Amino acid sequence: MKPILVLGGGPAGLSAAYALAAMGQRTILVDKADRLGGAPILTGYAKLVPSGEWAKDAIGGMVRRVEGNPLIEVQRATTVRSFSGEPGDFRARLSTGAELQLGAALLCTGFTHFDSINKPEWGFGTYPDVVTTAQVEQMISSGKGVRCPSDGREPERVAILLCVGSRDRQIGREWCSKICCTVSANIAMEIRDQLPKCNVYIYYMDIRTFGLYEDTYYWESQEKHKVKYIKARIAEVTSDGKRLIVKGEDTLVKRPITIPFDMVVHAIGMDPNLDNLTLSAVFDVKLERHGHIAKASSYTSMSHTSRPGVFVAGAATGPETIDDSIAQGQAAAMAALASVQGRAREAAE
Ligand SMILES: Cc1cc2nc3c(=O)[nH]c(=O)nc-3n(C[C@H](O)[C@H](O)[C@H](O)COP(=O)(O)OP(=O)(O)OC[C@H]3O[C@@H](n4cnc5c(N)ncnc54)[C@H](O)[C@@H]3O)c2cc1C
Ligand code: SF4
Repeated sequence: MKPILVLGGGPAGLSAAYALAAMGQRTILVDKADRLGGAPILTGYAKLVPSGEWAKDAIGGMVRRVEGNPLIEVQRATTVRSFSGEPGDFRARLSTGAELQLGAALLCTGFTHFDSINKPEWGFGTYPDVVTTAQVEQMISSGKGVRCPSDGREPERVAILLCVGSRDRQIGREWCSKICCTVSANIAMEIRDQLPKCNVYIYYMDIRTFGLYEDTYYWESQEKHKVKYIKARIAEVTSDGKRLIVKGEDTLVKRPITIPFDMVVHAIGMDPNLDNLTLSAVFDVKLERHGHIAKASSYTSMSHTSRPGVFVAGAATGPETIDDSIAQGQAAAMAALASVQGRAREAAE
């Protein structure tokens, strides 16, 4: 049987490739980055929600079991230039010049972090101490700890602004990125553990620590770690020369609020992968209206794209958690295998 292509080696692609190999299927895993692991490894996340494991250990373990698997051929720093044919008999040309014959393809190409420069009124790009959750994750995972980038001091007051690049029609991002409330509560607790004298405030429109996260993140961050939550509309982030100033309206008491901080953190959302237009053209698959890769239908064929024989999993379809991306990778592997095995049976009959 021809190998199956898995494009993208983040949590979704790693789980798909491993599941295929576990079922005895030859698999070619291609990633444009020079390392596997997807956003948690490439961005340098710290302790993951909800396991509390360090990303480098948890996702690193997924990478190792794929890299050590004889049924999986890994191609790093590579993209797919062309893709043609029918289910069970596809041909792909890689950017390295290699030509592949494939039974099916899985798109596990993930998302792009929202670039906070698109929200200039909230200070990113103007003030060095306005950073993103991704940058704070890097500060923690590097072992250097949370420090103000401008002068390296320990912050005494940190504001985390939720929904930056999500739920914002003005900048064309209507979706909720699902995980950033919980990630922010997790980061807030980590800052309080590392810097007990630091006050941490979370500015929110709504809190969506969904499912079981309500207890362990929303309530625990307030009751055990004394993180303060402010329901607010933020107008702007400026500076008085010494400290950052967050201006907005407290929407519970309907009064303007102006509070000084040492560091402001943007809880950035998950944009569609910037490559999606190219991927859509190369693989001839449809995108949904926000620009994510469209699923064929929601229940009967959750892993299918608009093109038979091409499947999709993880944050390529919209904002997803790591757990759900892994589960979707396994489901897509099963669907792809059923597709190639069905074709193989048809050919033999
Ligand atoms: C700041 C932040 C913190 C987060 N923390 C958590 C957390 O603690 N817990 C949690 O559950 N979720 C967390 N998430 C969400 C998490 O990042 C995603 O759920 C997860 O990364 C999705 O995995 P994926 O494999 O679908 O996509 P990705 O991780 O984006 O991986 C996609 C892979 O595809 C590759 N790729 C992309 N385009 C191409 C192309 N054209 N050709 C070849 N390869 C390509 C990329 O290089 C990458 O390796 C967080 C998100 C953010 C923004
Ligand atoms: S998960 Fe929370 S911070 Fe993220 S977009 Fe949804 S409501 Fe906003």
